[in-house]
Amino acid sequence: MHLRLLSAALGVATLISSGLAASEPVIVVNHLGDDASARFRFEKVQIPRRLDAGAKATFSLVDGRRDPNGAELSALNDGLLPTEEDQPSANFFFLAGSGGGRIGVDLGAAVEIAAINSYSWHPGGRGPQVYTVYASPGSNAGFAAAPTRPTDPTTCGWVRLAKVDTRAAADSAGGQYGVSLSGANGALGTFRHLLFDIQPTDPSDPFGQTFFSEIDIIDHNAAAEPEPEALAADTGAHRKTIQVEGDVEVIVDTTETPDLTEWADQKLTPMIREWYPKIVAMLPSEGYTAPKRVSINFRKDMQGVAATSGTRVNCAANWFRRELNREAVGAVFHELVHVVQQYGRARRTNPAATRAPGWIVEGIPDYVRWFLYEPQTRGAEISARNLDRARYDASYRISANFINYVVENHDKDLVRKLNAALREGNYTEDLWKQYTNHTVEELEKQWKAWLSARATTPQT
Ligand SMILES: [Zn+2]
Repeated sequence: MHLRLLSAALGVATLISSGLAASEPVIVVNHLGDDASARFRFEKVQIPRRLDAGAKATFSLVDGRRDPNGAELSALNDGLLPTEEDQPSANFFFLAGSGGGRIGVDLGAAVEIAAINSYSWHPGGRGPQVYTVYASPGSNAGFAAAPTRPTDPTTCGWVRLAKVDTRAAADSAGGQYGVSLSGANGALGTFRHLLFDIQPTDPSDPFGQTFFSEIDIIDHNAAAEPEPEALAADTGAHRKTIQVEGDVEVIVDTTETPDLTEWADQKLTPMIREWYPKIVAMLPSEGYTAPKRVSINFRKDMQGVAATSGTRVNCAANWFRRELNREAVGAVFHELVHVVQQYGRARRTNPAATRAPGWIVEGIPDYVRWFLYEPQTRGAEISARNLDRARYDASYRISANFINYVVENHDKDLVRKLNAALREGNYTEDLWKQYTNHTVEELEKQWKAWLSARATTPQT
C-alpha cells in the first residue's frame, strides 16, 4: 500500500513577546493515507503516547457542543487510538453544522512542555485539523481559565502559541494526521493551561468537524524516556480494554455473551478501575509486582460461577445472568483477589515452598470482598442459627468472618502478612501464634465466643 507521507513546516506563529514562552514553536504536519495498518506511525511526528502529561490533565469543553455521535472529551487523553478509518466512538468532534469550539486543558501544575501533538483520522473531510492553540501559566494577573468565543484569549492572560492548518499538507483530505508543535530551541515553554480553538475543516460542509483521536502533551523532562505508546481502542463493542491506574490493563470480553456487555460496562468496569489497584496495594510483598495484564472472559457454556488461572478469569454466563443485581460484581471481585494472590509462583521458584491451605486461599478473597469492598451487604455475617457449625477452616465467607475477627481483635496487619507468607511459600500454622500469641484453635474458640455474644446482642 502506498503511503503518502508528508512533512511540512507550515509556518511559525507569531508569538506575543510576553516572556511566557521559551521559544517559537515549529509545526510539523505528517499525513498518512487511509491504510489502517499505518497505525499513526508517522515519519516525524512521534506515535501517540498513553501516559503523557496530557493523560493526567483535565480536558474541558469551554465553548461549542460535542457531537453526541462521537466520543466524550476523554477520548482525547485516554491513550487509545481508533482502529478503523471511520470510528466515531473513538474520536471527539464538535456538533455537525456548528462552528467548532474551544477545549481547555488543565495540566494541574506548571509543566515544561516539550511538544503538543494532535492526532486525527477520517476517510474524508473530517481528517484535517484547523485550530489555534493558546497557553498560560495560569498564575498571571487577569487570567481567565475558560474564555468563550468571541473573547480573544490573548486579552485575558493567554499567549497564542500557534495556528495549525493541515489542509495544504495533503492532496486529499482523508487519512491519518499527526501534528506536532515543539520549540525551535528546547521546550515550548512552561504552562499549566492550554486552550484549543478548533475550526471546521470546511465551513460550507456541515460534517467538516475534525475527528480528533488523541492530544498528547509531552513533558520536556520526560521526553528523554518516552511514555508508553497509545493502544488500540476497543477491538469491538464486546471486548474492551480497561485502562486501570498506571500501566495496568484489564480486558473484559463479553463476545460470547453480548447481552452482558451493558452490565459489564456500567457495573463491572467501574469496580475494576477503582478496586484492582486497591487490592494490589493491600496485598504487597517484597519484590512482587502484581499482574498488569488481566483478562475477564464471560463464557456461554461454562458451568459453576467463576475460576481464575494465572491472570485469566473465566466467568459462567448463566450464573452471572441470574445474579446481575446481586452477587455478580462481587464474584468478579473475588477472582481479582486471586489474580493478585498468585500463590502458585512460590512453588515454581522454591522447591521447599509450603502449600497454601485452601481455606485461606479462598478466605482472603472473601474477607477483602465482604468486609472491605461491600460490608454493607453483610454477606459474611454468621447468624445464631449457624453458629454451631462455624469453623475457622470452613473456607469462603465463614473463614472470611474468622479472618475479620482476628484482624479486628489481634492484628490489623494480619492479611498483608499472611498473604506475603503464602505467596513466598512460607506459610505454617505457627504464623498465627507469631502474629497473635494464640494458636489458630485458640483463636477459633475466642471467635466463637465473640460471635455468640454478638448474636445475642440486639443489632441496632
Ligand atoms: Zn475463589
